[in-house]
Amino acid sequence: MDDYLEQIRHLIEEKGYARPVDVSERLGISQASVTNMLQRLHAEGLVKHEKYRGTTLTEEGDRIARAIIARHELLTEFLRLFNIDEETIYKDVEGMEHHVSRATLEALRAVTETLRESDPFREAVLKRLKDSSE
Ligand code: MN
Repeated sequence: MDDYLEQIRHLIEEKGYARPVDVSERLGISQASVTNMLQRLHAEGLVKHEKYRGTTLTEEGDRIARAIIARHELLTEFLRLFNIDEETIYKDVEGMEHHVSRATLEALRAVTETLRESDPFREAVLKRLKDSSE
């Protein structure tokens, strides 16, 4: 469900609305499953359908989608501190974001912000990573 809201918001930003065919393409999921999920999101008051245009988010849907995207971005920023390749980061974030608690996320935010300001510590972490891979 998070992945749907996330991609719907990305599509709305790019195109103004989300068509089921685009959601299905983005998520690599059949159009039938997308239609089912959109019905569920509609029942929960998170999306609305506009005839001949597509799906948009309700205010509540948009609030949740923004939080999901912010979480994705924070986890991405955290992993980027360690020079991990972008493809690995993306895959890992897609897995981690579904399991991470708010408390852990807040801790990772604090670590990310501190590491960004504290080069010596980040350098030490990177050196240790390099040494352990040799
Ligand atoms: Mn994501």
